[in-house]
Amino acid sequence: MSDLAPSSSSMPDPALFRAELLDRKAHLRAAQARMPQVAEVSRLLREIDAALGRLNDGSFGLCAVCHDAIEADRLRADPLTTLCLDHLTPAQARALEGDLELAVRIQTTLLPARHVSLGGWDAAFVYEPAAIVSGDYCDFISVGGSLVFLLADVSGKGVAASLLMSHLHAIFHTLVPMGLPLTQLLEHANRVFCESTLPSHYATLMCGRASPTGEVEVCNAGHCPPLVVRDDETSVIAPSALPLGFFADSRYATETIRLAPGDTLLLYTDGLTEALDASGRDYGVERLEGRVKALQHEPVTHWPRLVLDDVSAFRAAGQRHDDVTVMALRRKA
Ligand SMILES: [Zn+2]
Repeated sequence: MSDLAPSSSSMPDPALFRAELLDRKAHLRAAQARMPQVAEVSRLLREIDAALGRLNDGSFGLCAVCHDAIEADRLRADPLTTLCLDHLTPAQARALEGDLELAVRIQTTLLPARHVSLGGWDAAFVYEPAAIVSGDYCDFISVGGSLVFLLADVSGKGVAASLLMSHLHAIFHTLVPMGLPLTQLLEHANRVFCESTLPSHYATLMCGRASPTGEVEVCNAGHCPPLVVRDDETSVIAPSALPLGFFADSRYATETIRLAPGDTLLLYTDGLTEALDASGRDYGVERLEGRVKALQHEPVTHWPRLVLDDVSAFRAAGQRHDDVTVMALRRKA
């Protein structure tokens, strides 16, 4: 996600780092009093004092080898770090690679089956991180014969965003099986998300419950509007609520639409429509609408890949900046 958010890639306020380091120091001092024989505590205290010294002399956040800025996400995760990615020691680089492989493995296990066929619906998705892990959350959960589908885009990028993605996964896999009405489900999810994340973190979300009768109750919480593709027309589901994580007491209004056999819902994250070609033009919603009209007679399981292929062709030599997820859901004929 690229708009709205206080960017997670920019350097955070040094005052916040100072406060955090002083807080850690107080905890370590207390720990040292309880276990004076543990050398690790003394070593960490020395490192914290060194980091506070760097905050004082203005060298905090700069690589000790090349003096360029250390990646903000890494600094936030570990304020004691003194080397940029390019200048890690071989052992540190191996450890980081291991951590990232683990993060990818964890994220992969959190994705649903690529194709789902349930309660009169066929659904499929493609999920493409811009870097190693993604901040998109994509899910299908079956409850009482209906299919709950979710697509969210978490603020920020990289490992920090992927942690929030796994957080949403845990929240919805706990709440959805309770069978709450959709409004209540989202109000609960929003409260839990608000209480357990920083104020600068939020997630746009498109959530729906598709029943075997063709009725689909939906809520668009600040997410890019999904397309409803019918034989004769294409419409969108406009946002009707704030993203998750803004305000703990947000309300989540839903609407119910009816899909006829063969009608298709297309959900996506903004990495799709905001993809840029080499000249800086974006892919845009109009082009997407044109593309899906041409896909009417393709199996819905092919839609996400075909849409993404069109975006890749459009982007051509343009750079990829954002995670992309595309989800398609069709009422069976
Ligand atoms: Zn460096």
